[in-house]
Amino acid sequence: MTAFKELMAYQRDTAALAQVAGRLGWDQETVMPRGAASQRAEEAGAMEAVLHARKTDPRIGDWLEQAEAPDAAGTSAIRLIRRYYERGVKVPADLAVAMARLTSRSQGIWAEARAKDDFAGFAPVLEQVVALKRQEAAALAEEGSLYDALLEDFEPGMTEAELEAMFAEMRPGLVRLRQTALDAPEVAPVRGTFAGKSQMKLARSLARDFGYDFSKGRLDKAVHPFSSGSGTDVRITTRVAEDDPFNCIYSTIHETGHACYEQAIDASYLLTPLGQGVSMGVHESQSRIYENQLGRSRAFCSYLYGEMQEAFGDLGVADADGFYAAVNRVHRGYIRTEADEVQYNLHIMLRFDLERSLISGDLAVADLEAAWNDRFKADFGYEVDVASNGVLQDVHWSVGLFGYFPTYSLGNVYAGCLMAALRRAVPDLDAQLEHGELEAATGWLRENVQQHGGLYEPKEVIERACGAAPTAAPLMSYLEGKFGALYPG
Ligand code: ZN
Repeated sequence: MTAFKELMAYQRDTAALAQVAGRLGWDQETVMPRGAASQRAEEAGAMEAVLHARKTDPRIGDWLEQAEAPDAAGTSAIRLIRRYYERGVKVPADLAVAMARLTSRSQGIWAEARAKDDFAGFAPVLEQVVALKRQEAAALAEEGSLYDALLEDFEPGMTEAELEAMFAEMRPGLVRLRQTALDAPEVAPVRGTFAGKSQMKLARSLARDFGYDFSKGRLDKAVHPFSSGSGTDVRITTRVAEDDPFNCIYSTIHETGHACYEQAIDASYLLTPLGQGVSMGVHESQSRIYENQLGRSRAFCSYLYGEMQEAFGDLGVADADGFYAAVNRVHRGYIRTEADEVQYNLHIMLRFDLERSLISGDLAVADLEAAWNDRFKADFGYEVDVASNGVLQDVHWSVGLFGYFPTYSLGNVYAGCLMAALRRAVPDLDAQLEHGELEAATGWLRENVQQHGGLYEPKEVIERACGAAPTAAPLMSYLEGKFGALYPG
C-alpha cells in the first residue's frame, strides 16, 4: 500500500472512532440514565485517550513525509491532517494532560459558582485555565499573536487583527441600531398556550421544511440544543419552554442549519478529513442563515404565522406584521444565547476583547468581573445585576475555549455575504419563503457551500460562493435595512 493509502486508512478508523465518541456524548445529553454518569465519564475518558494517542501517533509524521495525493481532495486531506498533526506534536504531552485534567474539573466549579452568582468561587480555577492556555498558545504561536494561535483551532487562517478591524467596522452601526430599538416602545411577545408536544411536532415539520433528512438523523430534547455527528448519522436536539415557543422553533432551525451542512457533504468524503464542516465560522454561517436571514425574514414569518396559528390558536398579535415584529423584537436582556440579531454581535465583541486581554496578559482574572460589568454598561446601557447574568453566563472559558466566541459573529458576517449572493441567485426568493418553500435557498447553499466539506479553506469557500472576499458590509446593510424598518426611530 502507498503511504497515502495507509495514512487515509488510518485516518478513517480514527474518524470512525471520533464519531462513536460523539454518539456517546449525544447519548449523555439526551437519553442516558441519571445513574450512569460516573461510568460514562470513564467510558468517555477511555475513548478520549485512544483518540489522542491515534492523533499524535508518530507514524502519521512518517506517512505525511512520503504521501503523494492522487487528486485535489487528497491534497486537501493531507493539508488538514498535517495541520492537525503538527499542532498536536507542538503541545507537550504533559501540558495536554494537565489541560484535560483541569478542564474536566473546572466546568463543575464554574456551574456551581454560576448557581451561586459567585465569581470569586470560580476565579482561582479560571486563573489556572488561563495560565495553561497561555502556555499552549506560546507552544503553538509562530509569527502571530498568542491569541492567533488559539484562533487557529476554530477558524484556520483568521487573525486577531482581522477580527478587530471587522468588529470595529460593525460596532458603531450596531450600537446605533440597539439604541434606536430600545428607545422605541417595547414590542410585546406572542401570547398563548404552547403545549410541549405541539412545539415538538412543529419543530419536526420545520426541520423537514429546511431540508433535514430524518432517515439520517433524529430530533430529541436536551437542556442545551446542539447538532452532533457527520455523514449519514447527524442528530439534532432542541429545548421546549412552554411560555416561549420561539425558543424551540429557532433553536431547531439553527441546529437544522448545522445538521444540513453535515448531511450535504459529498458522500465520497465520509470519514475523511474533508467529511465535516470546515470551520466553526462557516458552520455557524449555515445555522445563522437558516435561523435568521431565512427563518426570521418577513416572508418566512408569514408562513410561520399560519403554521403557529394552526398549532396553537390565537397568538395575541394582530396580524403577520405584528407576528414578524414579535419574532424580531429587540429588548433588554443580559444573556447572549437569548439575544436578538442586533445585540448578539455586541455580546461577542465584549467577550472577544476580554478574552484576548486575558490571553495577552493585559487583564488579570481577578479584574475580569469588573471589566465585564464596565464594558456591559458601556455597550448595553445598563448595569449587570448578578454574575450569572454577566461574567458567569457562558461555559466556554471554564473548559478552555478561548478563541471560540468570535466565530459566532464571523458566522453572522459570512451569513450576510451568503444571503446577498443567494438573493442575486434566486430573485423570487421571498415569494417562495412566503409559502414555506425553502428548497431553492437550501439547494443553493448545499451546492455552493455545504457539499464541499473541508475541501477549501474557510474564507475560500465563502469567497467562491459569493464571488468576492467576505466583509461585514452585507451583514450590516441587511441589519440596517431590517431593523431600521422595524424601529424607524
Ligand atoms: Zn450554532
